[in-house]
Amino acid sequence: MIEQLGAEAREVRVPADLEGLGALVLPGGESTTMALGIEREGLGQPLRELAASGVPILATCAGLILLDREHLGVLDMRAERNAFGRQVRSFEADVALDGFGEPLHAVFIRAPWVAEHGAAVAAIGELDGHVIAVRSGRILAVAFHPELAGETRLHRWLIEEAAPAAA
Ligand code: GLN
Repeated sequence: MIEQLGAEAREVRVPADLEGLGALVLPGGESTTMALGIEREGLGQPLRELAASGVPILATCAGLILLDREHLGVLDMRAERNAFGRQVRSFEADVALDGFGEPLHAVFIRAPWVAEHGAAVAAIGELDGHVIAVRSGRILAVAFHPELAGETRLHRWLIEEAAPAAA
């Protein structure tokens, strides 16, 4: 998605990969596995420092979980894993996010929701009364996969936020 939008992408596996990044995507996947990898490679503190330095971050699905208090502690919130329940673990929906115009087509795969959050974290999207998108400064975290439905607006936002830093 990043390359499709004309920016250069790099995988982050070890702390050295964070060097000089203009922006970061914390992708979907499996948060327990990802948390173990972060721990194993000593990425926790470097990721917290990157977030604190103002580098823009887009976190999707498991990425949202990684930002919460029980994981990296970057955002003052608690994510509830697999929150949409057994019967509707995966579904698609159109969701409106404050500041992003027309509703986005979102793919939810065993998605979390934000169970509660502090005042520094703004809820910018809800589905069935549950918070599924939050923003805190230059950090945007969503419970769904925008990339699977070809939704480019959130990645475009990330690249635009990165531009001044990269320049
Ligand atoms: N259920 C996964 C988890 O708890 C998240 C799924 C996803 O990222 N699509 O980590």
